[in-house]
Amino acid sequence: MIWLLRNRNWVFASVAAILLLAMPEIAGNEYALRFYTLMLIYMILALGLNVLVGFTGLVSLGQAGLYAIGAYTAAILATRIDFGFVPCLVLGMLFSGAFGVLLAYPTVRVRGVYLAVVTIAFGIIVENIAIEWDSLTGSWVGISDVPQPGIFGLPIGHRTYFYLVGGCALIAFAVNVNIMNSRFGRAMIATSQSEIAASSLGINVTAVRTLAFVISAVTAGAAGVFYVFLNKYISPDIFSFGDSIRFLLMVILGGAGTALGPVVGAGVLSYLPEFLQQFGEWQAFAYGALLAIVMFFLPRGIVGSLSDILQRFLPVAPAQALASTGNPLEDLLGDGRSESGICLEAENVSLRFGGLSALDKVQTQVATGSIHGLIGPNGAGKSTLLNAVSGIYQVSSGRILFEGEDITAMRSYQLARRGLARTFQNTELFKEMTALENVWNGFYSHYRSGIVSAILRLPNYRTDEDRYRQAALALLDYVGLSSFAETKAKDLPFGFQRKLEIARALAVSPRLLLLDEPAAGLTHAEVDDLRDLILQLAEHGITIVVVEHHMDLVMAISSQMTVLDYGEVIARGTAAEVQENARVIEAYFGNPDMLDHAVSVSADKQVVDGVS
Ligand code: ADP
Ligand code: MG
Repeated sequence: MIWLLRNRNWVFASVAAILLLAMPEIAGNEYALRFYTLMLIYMILALGLNVLVGFTGLVSLGQAGLYAIGAYTAAILATRIDFGFVPCLVLGMLFSGAFGVLLAYPTVRVRGVYLAVVTIAFGIIVENIAIEWDSLTGSWVGISDVPQPGIFGLPIGHRTYFYLVGGCALIAFAVNVNIMNSRFGRAMIATSQSEIAASSLGINVTAVRTLAFVISAVTAGAAGVFYVFLNKYISPDIFSFGDSIRFLLMVILGGAGTALGPVVGAGVLSYLPEFLQQFGEWQAFAYGALLAIVMFFLPRGIVGSLSDILQRFLPVAPAQALASTGNPLEDLLGDGRSESGICLEAENVSLRFGGLSALDKVQTQVATGSIHGLIGPNGAGKSTLLNAVSGIYQVSSGRILFEGEDITAMRSYQLARRGLARTFQNTELFKEMTALENVWNGFYSHYRSGIVSAILRLPNYRTDEDRYRQAALALLDYVGLSSFAETKAKDLPFGFQRKLEIARALAVSPRLLLLDEPAAGLTHAEVDDLRDLILQLAEHGITIVVVEHHMDLVMAISSQMTVLDYGEVIARGTAAEVQENARVIEAYFGNPDMLDHAVSVSADKQVVDGVS
């Protein structure tokens, strides 16, 4: 039973395959068979849309436009140039895919509901082109006389066509499952949960979103082509805004983000209107009421909510034994490098937010292999400096050098790929993902195998996947979280979340690690743990910049420090030098008499939390 539930996708696919084979017999007549073929076409479309909506969390209300582009491409090619079924299918998919790229472009700037509006606009534009470009599309009259589909000159009958579309639906389902369980699927889900964390791990958010748009567009295009050869006729009213809504509903009602969800959703929403005919004039009302009731009781969709419930009865999968018990850092970073030189350099870095000067001509250097403390009162610009260094903010003027290379204009994901990792002041975990998946995402740019290998589950993909899964487990083990591998990040105690974020950053194999207040919110014992961890990382040759309010921690571990106040560097030097600096004492306590107090607090090993 448990085995059946764990492998439910493949069990479903096998049952579905048998059902497909028997369906033409069950259907009995041609009308019913046509209906089931159409249902399969919607399933294909919904599965593609699921990659976008379910994985990346982006909403498209223009899917009917992409569906129409596939359909019109096929209809025009088949009627005007006598293209066969296969070339029509290929070109329809390609053409829709190209529009997918176009539609993905706004995501660079536009988010949330605004993006939904852009996709609505796209759907309206396509619909209107279909109406107005009379000579090509036949306007309201549409295109009829689409020939019977054929392959290699052999005509395809209704039954064969049903099998063909059914086979493609099964392929679409398998592609969905394989993308979901690959680094691409995990990256898509990651971008929906924390965009900045994803890019800090080397994930190019724009590229991942474009990929999702293209996959959903190509499938919508294929569905459009299948539709044309089923219906033999198209006109603009088949691809209205209402259809885009229906396609989105299929995914949401079934369960966005699950592979079975869109299949169930498409099935239910295709069948529902037939079923509701008995309600006569109350049909539309019943339709709406049913939707509302289902979404109220099953908020994550039919499959999503039901599998959440089932999950509670499933025993947690036992944590796998690790292949090697060696130190994962040695595999990742080599054996404690000891190059000398400057790892990071800020040259006259200024950054303004409107009128506020958050960084003002900041000048500092971080020696390779050192632990460098960055301190200053709240609002001094510490986080802003880390954000500028890690490519999240663009500086207004000045230069930033990483290992001698000018990285001022580089983006976050590019820096991660060069060996710069970070954690965040307010942890930015992928909350709905497990601890294992969080760290696994950190290995994103180490993979050598691409999307095709992932979809086809080629050997090079399996090798990569196994290898980085093991590496992620080893890193979890290293920070003491191995027994939480299958726990969702949001369910971890806060101290463990901080550790998890460090483990995830280590997956990038950083040579420079930026820690933004890693001790904030930790207990005394956890702070001690953290200190040991940071010292160990430094021994492995990782250069570390640590922003911290826990004075005794940061003073104890830093060989050099930089002190910021109102965006300006007010002191630089060793912990002892900085402690004695009159401007530092002034900034922290506003009063030079507090000097003795500051030192004694530090000497007592008490924690000075949130000074300012
Ligand atoms: P710290 O980390 O040292 O406490 P921050 O770098 O977070 O300080 O903030 C420095 C200053 O910049 C503060 O005055 C803060 O309000 C401002 N600031 C930080 N981020 C932004 C932002 N995204 N937009 C506008 N102002 C910001
Ligand atoms: Mg801060």
